[in-house]
Amino acid sequence: MPLNVLFAARHDRWESYETPLRNAFSEAGLEVNLAQDIPPAKVDYIIYAPNSELRDFRPFTRARAVLNLWAGVENIVDNPTLDIPLARMVDEGLTQGMVEWVTGHVLRHHLGMDTHILGLAGEWVRDIPPLASERPVTVLGLGELGRACARSLARIGFNVTGWSRSAHGVDGIRCLSGPETLAAALNEAEICVLLLPLTPETENLMDAARLAVLPRGAVVLNPGRGPLVDDDALLAALDAGQIGHATLDVFRQEPLPPEHPFWAHDRITVTPHIASETRPSSSARVIAENIRRGEAGEPFLHLVDRGLGY
Ligand code: NAP
Repeated sequence: MPLNVLFAARHDRWESYETPLRNAFSEAGLEVNLAQDIPPAKVDYIIYAPNSELRDFRPFTRARAVLNLWAGVENIVDNPTLDIPLARMVDEGLTQGMVEWVTGHVLRHHLGMDTHILGLAGEWVRDIPPLASERPVTVLGLGELGRACARSLARIGFNVTGWSRSAHGVDGIRCLSGPETLAAALNEAEICVLLLPLTPETENLMDAARLAVLPRGAVVLNPGRGPLVDDDALLAALDAGQIGHATLDVFRQEPLPPEHPFWAHDRITVTPHIASETRPSSSARVIAENIRRGEAGEPFLHLVDRGLGY
């Protein structure tokens, strides 16, 4: 009997995921009926995008797991109708995309590229940027994405600090953990990258007090989640010169409304949640491997800790 795998995502995703998923199932030796519409009581696994319409998991009485297509799970993790394992997406393509976005935006600010690209100096001013080794960069979050970005920045030579909830050791990175070390992670960070999940503990983490701990003129890059930053506090810190620039990829409301002050601010760069994206072919292999594990009675990969919220 084939496994019934429901693809619960917006219709436009089906076209890009159907073939990679079918190929990955076949490579994994899985016989699968993959469809966008299967009677709930017959579904074995749910591939899920948090912007799908599916909210009530109770009718899926025999489903073994929900396999999230996204890295972030804040829209599903506290769903009270969900009582089966929830796996989030860890995908090499998603990770590589984030490394490229973070590295590119860090280098933009480190090298002061805007001055030359926009001709802001308007004259021959030789303002030599420091070497990367002289530029302290902090990455908040040392998970799949934060670790990969921190490593990439350290390879270029940046002086990188990483901060996480539990203790980590990453070669070439100064690793700090726990709330009591946050000030130490921030107080020298000329560039601060937010790669934390959105949880009750991380919401508004970068409030007025935390922004004030950063060195004057620091740059904030947020490819994590919008509510990690207090919007009003950020605007005030930019206007006061405490923050030199903010490059924001994620927002409390997406798309960012046209009237939002972030659009017009000359020291905020808005990118439209494009820092990274799950890639169909590599993520399909992750999903197939998790279904294979479920059928073999092996533990699922990348399980979400519902208590921690990520
Ligand atoms: P992850 O592997 O779950 O890593 C999360 C990291 O945050 C871990 O290091 C974790 O600490 C740390 N953390 C969580 N709560 C904390 C707290 N209260 N205090 C200190 N550290 C805390 O997640 P990921 O795969 O790296 O993804 C990170 C986030 O990136 C996602 O949740 C998503 O919101 C965002 N994202 C954005 C895009 C985009 O296009 N903009 C794309 C993908 C993902 P421990 O290591 O101790 O657990």
